[in-house]
Amino acid sequence: MANRIVLRGGRVLDAKTRFDAVADVVISGGIVEDIVDEYEVGAGDDVIDASGKWVIPGHIDAHAHFAGTSDFGFDSVIGLKQLARAGVTTAIDLGGSMDTLYDAVRRGGTGINMASLMRITPSANISSAEPDRAELDQVLTDGLATGSIGAKMWGGYDPLTPEGTARVIEACNTLGTHVAFHVGTTETGSRLDGLREVPEILGANGRLHIAHINAYCRGSILEPHEEVIEALQIIEELGPRVVSEVHMAVPNFTRGECAPDGSIVNDVPRNCLRLRDYEANIDGMRAAIRDGYGSVVMLVNDRLDLVSGTAGLAEFDRLKSMTPMSFPVNLPSTAFALTAAKDGEGKFVVDAVASDGGILPRNVNIEQTIAMVKFGALEPLEAVAKLSYNPARMFGLTNKGRLESGADADITVINPQTGGATDTVVGGKVVLRNGYIVSSGGTIFTTDRGKIAAANSGIPYEIIEPLQGLMYSRVSDPS
Ligand SMILES: [Zn+2]
Repeated sequence: MANRIVLRGGRVLDAKTRFDAVADVVISGGIVEDIVDEYEVGAGDDVIDASGKWVIPGHIDAHAHFAGTSDFGFDSVIGLKQLARAGVTTAIDLGGSMDTLYDAVRRGGTGINMASLMRITPSANISSAEPDRAELDQVLTDGLATGSIGAKMWGGYDPLTPEGTARVIEACNTLGTHVAFHVGTTETGSRLDGLREVPEILGANGRLHIAHINAYCRGSILEPHEEVIEALQIIEELGPRVVSEVHMAVPNFTRGECAPDGSIVNDVPRNCLRLRDYEANIDGMRAAIRDGYGSVVMLVNDRLDLVSGTAGLAEFDRLKSMTPMSFPVNLPSTAFALTAAKDGEGKFVVDAVASDGGILPRNVNIEQTIAMVKFGALEPLEAVAKLSYNPARMFGLTNKGRLESGADADITVINPQTGGATDTVVGGKVVLRNGYIVSSGGTIFTTDRGKIAAANSGIPYEIIEPLQGLMYSRVSDPS
């Protein structure tokens, strides 16, 4: 008989069945074989002592970046490592390239499950900010054939017109793929005004994943708490046709890029500077770095770190502004309020906690969600729903996000004192043991349209069906 992995004596928490008890989890052949009071360990079984710890279905990070940030010169492998160390068992790249992903997994996969949304960028992979439907269908079909599970628009960086944005969503909905939107169009920004635009863009039937709701409640238009209230109203009114997430890291991640005339190229860093009354140009950017408000993201000892002051400024100047940047603009009170908010029926308005991290040093989902449990803002099983059950449903990962016999053996073990992950199992293999990555490779999730590319990559893959994701399945098409 095959050897088993036994997670012994932890507090086993499952949001779907509402199971919450100290038990042994027995894993065999890649699935959860049984959850029992006390399992009699056999010779050759691999026992992980989980006493005093929480054992939850594996954390699914519904918004990460690890296969599309090569522009910054950082290796995607760093992202795969940072995710695995943070206790993630499945990560979705929001706007990457499958070739980058395949290459990273071959060179330095960490054993986790991965999927990617292709990025829709005017003047890069589409001809303008208002592409026609035929062009979009071609771009999407080509991208899905590389293995992507859908598309992502980056409104704060590469906005489309409102009409172009609506057309991308419509094309994705018709193809039945996942579609995510960092809000903002040519008419609005990566702010509350961008979110206000979404109902009209979506129309009566559109389905959408709205990325990081908290990023639009930084106080650019109203007071932050007023923006939170309005954002929640918008999400609630859009109802079951949208899925959404919130990230918990205070530092954001953006680009420093300035034009030769000293203006700042992107909307997000301009907003960050204005929030603290810095000039929205290269002089303001340099002053912010010198003062410690702005940080340059740099590789320090095999991890990405935030560097400001003289060292940060030297790097910014050396790279002639072409550097990833970070500002502490995400308000903890905003993330807290949006994560805890429930509708009149007691259901969460925002589905999941997701990092917007990966290669970005922001992988604090588990710590911050457990901190909310300690604060009394979430029940333990609600934290598990935010970290695993809900994100699994967002992507139609029907055999994940739950911890019961027959489910995939993707499990995260958490030290509730520190809030950090200590061990993970992915597909029945130990990936993280006592905080160290002990696995390699990984599994790619793709759709039926991407199976040839996935097979050609030589990397293990699984077919998923985006139509089973919540944005499509939570309510049937009213038309
Ligand atoms: Zn992102």
